[in-house]
Amino acid sequence: MSLQLLFKAPYIEMESLENIWFQLSNTACNLKCKHCFLSCNPKFTNKSFLHIDKVKQTLDATRGENIKNIYLTGGEPLLHPEINNILRLCLRRCNTTILTNGTMLNDKKVRFLRQLEDNYNFEIIFRVSLDHYDEIINDRIRTRGHFRKAISGIQNLIKYEFNPIISTVNYDNRDDDELKSGFRELFDSIGFETEDLNYKIIPPIKTGEYALNYGKYQDDEFVDCNSLKNADTDNFDCKTSRIITQDGVYSCPALATDSRGKIGTTIQDYSKKVFLEANTCYTCKKLNGKLFNNDW
Ligand code: SF4
Ligand code: SF4
Repeated sequence: MSLQLLFKAPYIEMESLENIWFQLSNTACNLKCKHCFLSCNPKFTNKSFLHIDKVKQTLDATRGENIKNIYLTGGEPLLHPEINNILRLCLRRCNTTILTNGTMLNDKKVRFLRQLEDNYNFEIIFRVSLDHYDEIINDRIRTRGHFRKAISGIQNLIKYEFNPIISTVNYDNRDDDELKSGFRELFDSIGFETEDLNYKIIPPIKTGEYALNYGKYQDDEFVDCNSLKNADTDNFDCKTSRIITQDGVYSCPALATDSRGKIGTTIQDYSKKVFLEANTCYTCKKLNGKLFNNDW
């Protein structure tokens, strides 16, 4: 019997919904990264995308809630055929973060998004994935050619006065400060002046492709009430966030394709209580912070 079965999973109870995530493109992505925890890949059809009506219904149904942030994710959310209209809906409500691999941020697209954002009081925040400041190391895990496209995307964002966050999966346990310092040097060289808030470095989630290529969670990597004693669970994403997928409401992006993460069918009927029974919760505990939401 595994150690995990001997313990009752602790739970987190949400007090108020502050962050809504939309998994716009399910697991559709134009890349196939070796550490993708949802095993996203380029095999997809139009049916892979969340219907815009679901976004609208969710925003309508939460009108009375104090939603502070919306996050658009996938897969690659910019593949969604209705991304511009979805952004228009979201920006009427609050700041909206797009989590992207950066490969689709060409000059024309970013210029258009600048014009779109200028019509609203809220901001589009871009989180661009880049795992290393060295092209070869980055492309080894993210797909060949990703680095150059992502850097070009970041340059376009700067050109049109966006201030992107660089999102890094520290998949081989490097020193975070060394990573930041390497990135700073790289971005200085292209005229992008970064601060700490421009970096979000997270540990890997050991499911999907990561589990296949680098190893899954060990039997003793789970959370119980005892191991959570020193953790700041108020910072865990499931305390303040829910993610809407094609298939219903889930506790967090890490569990968006895992039946253990499903806690409702619509935003009207989801559970406020999340049992931390997946090994993924161990990653949140280890980080002791926000694995997914922006940090400020
Ligand atoms: S990690 Fe991100 S960019 Fe890479 S395959 Fe997964 S969703 Fe796509
Ligand atoms: S993985 Fe993290 S955010 Fe998701 S349910 Fe577990 S503790 Fe909550």
